[in-house]
Amino acid sequence: MKQYFLPHEGGAFKANLHCHSTVSDGRLTVEQIKEHYMKNGYSIIAYTDHDVLVAHDDLNEDGRFLALHGYEMEVNEEGFKGLFSEGLKFGSAKTAHLCYIAKSPDNMTQVCYNKDKYIWGNALAYKPQLKFESDDYIRRYSAEGVSEMIRIGREHGFFVTYNHPTWSMESYPDYSGYEGMNAVEIWNTGCERGGWAEYNDHCYDDFLRQGKRIYVTATDDNHNGHDLSHPLSDACGGWIVVRCAELEYECVTDALEKGSFYASTGPEIYDLWAEDGYLHVTTSPVHRINFITGARHCGSAGAHYGDSVTEAAFKYNKDSDGYIRVDIQDDYGRHAATNAVWVDTIAE
Ligand SMILES: [Zn+2]
Ligand SMILES: [Zn+2]
Repeated sequence: MKQYFLPHEGGAFKANLHCHSTVSDGRLTVEQIKEHYMKNGYSIIAYTDHDVLVAHDDLNEDGRFLALHGYEMEVNEEGFKGLFSEGLKFGSAKTAHLCYIAKSPDNMTQVCYNKDKYIWGNALAYKPQLKFESDDYIRRYSAEGVSEMIRIGREHGFFVTYNHPTWSMESYPDYSGYEGMNAVEIWNTGCERGGWAEYNDHCYDDFLRQGKRIYVTATDDNHNGHDLSHPLSDACGGWIVVRCAELEYECVTDALEKGSFYASTGPEIYDLWAEDGYLHVTTSPVHRINFITGARHCGSAGAHYGDSVTEAAFKYNKDSDGYIRVDIQDDYGRHAATNAVWVDTIAE
């Protein structure tokens, strides 16, 4: 029996889940972002401006474009003075950034807010219309503090992602204590274009090997500091492809919650299924197909540069692998990654 991990019914919708506009510190308006991304095949943008939750329903077009609303929160290592101040230590302070995407179109209440802190830049103009679940919350940079922020977000109906660990200068001793997020960014275009090594596949495996059943996203985190035609433009470099019945708000967020998507910076994943003890994948033409597990047991299919592979199968070990995930790479070094398949969820 074939057990599929990317649903077949409905559509496949390209989405950017991390995006900044003129509502906070981005250079393009929400409309300009929509126009550019639609031209590049996207149907979904989650607008996640810094510390400001604003709905953009007026951008929605039936069956063509859907705006999700969310916001990005940060909590900084003790002594950190902020991005735009003199003094300590922007160059070396650690920070944790989380995106909160509202799972319901009616959810317009921000969490972990403090009336005297956190909101800055253009977002100040929106302050009078914002609604908060608390106005005196103090964010704490610690495993407990970040985990509490994630828990509060989940309890209030948000899909929570842990963002750009490399740019944040966090490593295993920091992020291994973070609990409860839905997903981690395996790729962040804005950070990568800035020079950081922001393909975080090791970080995803670190979480999975701790037993955390989370997903991976690839996002842009676009601020559009460069023109859209510039080689270092941070638009349209990383995305997820969501499989769901229709382009409708809760249909999409439900698919996020269930993990019915894959992440990509270029190549495509068409199908992923288990059958008779093997995990199978079919893809666009790529240079490598890697199978990674929770154990020292991996597998690979490959081609010479210029040639390609488009399918592979991997015999997993039901007793010891824990999970299996697929990572593919094309001749340009671009990746796509599936969410982990937990072996104990594969039917006999
Ligand atoms: Zn960030
Ligand atoms: Zn961001």
